[in-house]
Amino acid sequence: MFTSFIEALQAEGIDMAWQDFAHCRGADPDLFFPERGASTRAAKTICRECSVQDECLEFAIVSSEKFGIWGALSERERRKIRKERQIAARARKAS
Ligand code: SF4
Repeated sequence: MFTSFIEALQAEGIDMAWQDFAHCRGADPDLFFPERGASTRAAKTICRECSVQDECLEFAIVSSEKFGIWGALSERERRKIRKERQIAARARKAS
């Protein structure tokens, strides 16, 4: 069992320099990986005060993170951004 969200990320072998500045350092990882239907408010509140929110969100989007709150967005919210980017990329390619 991990004692922090960052510890959980490090255990995955994920090297992210920006994590040194993560506001969730020491936070309960369960806040960032809530059960289905549980509130994400506490995690998102922590994220919104984080100086590396953009980096974290971008990492989660490009690595297609399927679970958890990253950069103050849920998986569903990140999936919407990925889809919008795919549509924009296809439009650029077609023009
Ligand atoms: S944006 Fe949120 S999940 Fe990402 S590093 Fe900051 S506090 Fe942690």
